[in-house]
Amino acid sequence: QQTTREWQQLDASHHLHPFTDFQALNKKGSRIITKASGVYLEDSDGKRILDGMAGLWCVNMGYGRQELVDAATRQMQQLPYYNLFFQTAHPPVIELATLLAEVTPSHLNHVFFTGSGSECNDTVLRMVRHYWASKGQPDKQVIISRHNAYHGSTVAGASLGGMKGMHAQGGLPIPGIVHIDQPYHFGEGQGMSAHEFGLERARQLEQKILELGVDKVAAFIGEPIQGAGGVIIPPDSYWPEIQRICDHYGILLIADEVICGFGRTGHWFASEGFGIKPDLMCLAKGITSGYLPLGAVMVSDRVAKGLVEEGGEFNHGFTYSGHPVSCAVAVANIQLMQKESIVKRVHDTIGPYLQRRWAELADHPLVGETRGLGLVAALEIVQDKQTNRRFPAQANAGMTCREFCFNNGLVMRAVGDTMIISPPLVITEEQVDELVDLARRSLDLTAEKLKG
Ligand code: PMP
Repeated sequence: QQTTREWQQLDASHHLHPFTDFQALNKKGSRIITKASGVYLEDSDGKRILDGMAGLWCVNMGYGRQELVDAATRQMQQLPYYNLFFQTAHPPVIELATLLAEVTPSHLNHVFFTGSGSECNDTVLRMVRHYWASKGQPDKQVIISRHNAYHGSTVAGASLGGMKGMHAQGGLPIPGIVHIDQPYHFGEGQGMSAHEFGLERARQLEQKILELGVDKVAAFIGEPIQGAGGVIIPPDSYWPEIQRICDHYGILLIADEVICGFGRTGHWFASEGFGIKPDLMCLAKGITSGYLPLGAVMVSDRVAKGLVEEGGEFNHGFTYSGHPVSCAVAVANIQLMQKESIVKRVHDTIGPYLQRRWAELADHPLVGETRGLGLVAALEIVQDKQTNRRFPAQANAGMTCREFCFNNGLVMRAVGDTMIISPPLVITEEQVDELVDLARRSLDLTAEKLKG
C-alpha cells in the first residue's frame, strides 16, 4: 500500500491530468481519492469529503450501488464486448435503445450510441450536416452555438463550446461554427428585466440566421442550463423564443442534455421542463450514473426518417458505441431511477429543499446572487453586494473558496467567481444541511482571507 506522498510523486511523474495547471499540480500534489459510498468520497488519508458535484455531474444514483455492479458483472461474464458495425447488435444495446425511447420525450424514438458526451456532439455535428445534404441542401452546414457553452473536448465538441481561453488551444475552432451570446442575466443583463433580456438573447439567433442566410444554417445547439459555464439558468422567455425561431426558419434544434438529463433539474430531461422539443438530444454522464462511459444521441422521428430514407450509409461510429457492459449498466441505472421515483423526488421534495437552503446563502456578505433548479445550483461571489462589483481577478475569490471547501470536506466547483454544486440525486436533507453549512463556512473563511 502506497502512502499519500508516494501516490503523489508517481502521479506527478507519469500522469498528465486533464484540465489541470501542471505547475500548480506539481507544487501541491494531487488529492488521491481512494473510495466512495453514497454521497461521500474518501481520500488516501482517510478524510471524508461530501461530493457536491456528483463526480463530474454524473454519479446521480450515488456511489456503491450494488445493482449497477451486479449488472456490469453479469454482462461482463455473458458478453464483455461486441461491436455494432456492419449489421450486428446485442441484447443490452437493443434493451437500452427501447428504454430510452420510452423515457425521453415522445417524438424521440431513435438512438445513435457513442462512448461519451463529446462524441455525441461530434455525432450531431456530422449528423445534421449529413441530414441536410441528403435533403439536397449541402450548403446548410453552419451550427450556431453560444459563448460560454461546454460541449466537450474532442475537436468538434471543443469547437462547439465557447468557454473563454479553454477551447482555443490547438488551432480551434473548426470552420462552420458560430457563437451568439449566452442568456446570463446576472453577469450580462444588469439593468434589463430577466424577461426582456431572455428575449433579447434569443433573438440574437434570429439575427445570426438572417445574417448568414437560412440556406446556410443547419442547426442551433444549446445546453438547457449551461453547466460548466456556471449554471446559467435562462430567463423563462428564452427557450420558447429559441423554439419559435428554429420552427419558423426550419433550423434543427439540438439540446445538449449531458448534464441536465436524467433527473438533474427535476424532470427526466430539462427540455421538458423548459417546454422545448429538440430534434436531437445528447445524453451521457447520468445515463450510467457515471459508472461506465456511454453517450447517446436521441434522434426525432422526422430526422431519423430523413436519415434512413434519404441518407444512405452514415459513415460514423466508434469502437465503444453502445458498449454492452455500459448499456447493461445504463438499463439497470434507469430501472433503479424508476424504482426509486428519483425524478419525482428531485422535483417534489429534495430539489425544493436544497433550493430553499441554498437561497439562505444570499444573506452572506460575499454573495451577490443565488440561483438553481432541481439539484443544480450556483452562487455569485462579489466584493460589493450593492453594485455586484466583482473582486479583482488576481484575488482568485472563487478558487480560494473552492480550496476552503475542499480542505473542509466539500467538493464545490468554481467557474471564475461563480460557485456551483450538483450533488448526487440521492442526497438526503441532512446531507443538504451539511453541504450548505460547509459552503457557508468556506464563504466566511474566503471573506476573512480576502479582507486580510
Ligand atoms: N456536453 C456537456 C453539456 C457537458 O457538460 C460535457 C461534460 N462536462 C460534455 C458535453 C462532454 O462530455 P464528455 O466529457 O463525456 O465527453
